[in-house]
Amino acid sequence: MARYTGPVCKLCRREGVKLFLKGDKCITKCTLERRSSRPGQHGSGRVRKESGYAKQLREKQRVRRTYGVLEKQFKRHFNFAARTPGKTGETLVGVLEMRLDNLVYRLGFADSRAQARQLVNHGHFAVNGRKTDIPSFVARPNDVISVRERSKGMEYFKTRALILPQKDIPAWLRLDADAMTGRVLTIPSRADLELPFDEQMVVEFYQKR
Ligand code: SF4
Repeated sequence: MARYTGPVCKLCRREGVKLFLKGDKCITKCTLERRSSRPGQHGSGRVRKESGYAKQLREKQRVRRTYGVLEKQFKRHFNFAARTPGKTGETLVGVLEMRLDNLVYRLGFADSRAQARQLVNHGHFAVNGRKTDIPSFVARPNDVISVRERSKGMEYFKTRALILPQKDIPAWLRLDADAMTGRVLTIPSRADLELPFDEQMVVEFYQKR
């Protein structure tokens, strides 16, 4: 599976905001707080006024990077949202939040989406009892995400089980920390986002292309 393997703090510097791509380190030791210039040779130069298109592009890139999704996959999510009856922007929010890697992160099984993606890739999770190792799998309400029995014995998950009860779980998910399972209660809306974004700008970006 293709993924971005470069330095992630660079992505935050490019977007000029904290994207929280490194889990707890983002709270205790954030690079952006020490070095806020854009990356590259001209990063500390004059900031030009952005056109409407540039703003939409930046918003799309910010969302894409927050969820750690490559362009092709992101466009696929957008096309699905555009085909689905209802507001495209709202559907896109739901699709991104209901990705399996995001659910694993939001349920507290991982400290970042990147870590969650790796855990999913390595086959440690099941959806409704079936092993699912596809991070881009999009869940539905009432789906149950669980750590697989054979993985529960791993040191990582044993340590995780101790800190899970202290995790702040969003209201649209329900976590059973003892059983290491989580249930999707509803499709989240923009009010449920951890890092709010302007989904309308993303829609306008793709509609212009
Ligand atoms: Fe972004 Fe986290 Fe790096 Fe800070 S520490 S720049 S929030 S990835």
